Amino acid sequence: MTQSILSGLLIVGTAACAVAAPLQVSALHPLMADLARQVGGERVTVFDLVGAGGNPHRFEPRPADLQQMQASALVLAAGKNQEPYLNRLKDTLQGVTVIEVGNTIPSLTVGSDAVYSCCPQHASGLPDPHWWHGIDNMRRAARVVALALAAKDAAGKATYLDNASAYGARLERLQRWARGELAKVPRDQRKLVTAHNAFGYFARDFGFEVIAVAGLNQEQNNTPQDLAATIAAVKHAGVKAIFPEQNTNSKALQSLATATATTLATPLISDGNGTGNQAGFEAMIRHNVQAIIRALATP
Ligand SMILES: [Zn+2]
Ligand SMILES: [Zn+2]
Repeated sequence: MTQSILSGLLIVGTAACAVAAPLQVSALHPLMADLARQVGGERVTVFDLVGAGGNPHRFEPRPADLQQMQASALVLAAGKNQEPYLNRLKDTLQGVTVIEVGNTIPSLTVGSDAVYSCCPQHASGLPDPHWWHGIDNMRRAARVVALALAAKDAAGKATYLDNASAYGARLERLQRWARGELAKVPRDQRKLVTAHNAFGYFARDFGFEVIAVAGLNQEQNNTPQDLAATIAAVKHAGVKAIFPEQNTNSKALQSLATATATTLATPLISDGNGTGNQAGFEAMIRHNVQAIIRALATP
């Protein structure tokens, strides 16, 4: 009798182990979802709440997202006030750990020259939330995520740390490739004229200057004065190309390019929200580096 109960338990134990449910992780930023998949592998199921092509600056959790998060062991946010609703969210979620992945990474400050801030909480003088444009930052973040996953799934700790190291090694190769490519841009062209002031960390790492101007996106109401200031800034910079936002291709942009004798570059991916083969961190970096090379390094 005793023996049959024991063997029954062993069988149950073995079966439970074989079909151990993956750890449920919700992400409030597409790149945190990518990171959770890279580090978590098959031990996690990741819910990308913003979704492919979504804009994390505009995202607010809907009731279905709250249910998803409540059912998750862990919620990953980018941090650095990228998610201004986070305190309210933490009050709402019961017993769910919320990790702000970027918070231990040193911040840059949005410069006073920022003419366009994506949202009020990312205005000049405040921490720049776009830490994910630093490849080394992302390597550090992989370890943050590995430890956060291990805290919920101790049996997976070695796997998570191994995955984070392997991913980190891949990111080091990506960094070397990006350095080599960007070195092809002549020194006097190492300037990113953009509207969305998202590339501060990238610019610091690769020796570029960000020149934030008005008139390159759809969200601004550009006055004639804005346009005149932009034309003057672009001419002063002496760049060959300017980088519009995704989803913009207006006549106004073309006339700006004509007025400044520049070309319109392929839009850069600002917030990790590329789709298809541009989804995810590594694809975003490769896309952006190639867009910069095409626009600024060609004779
Ligand atoms: Zn923003
Ligand atoms: Zn952004």
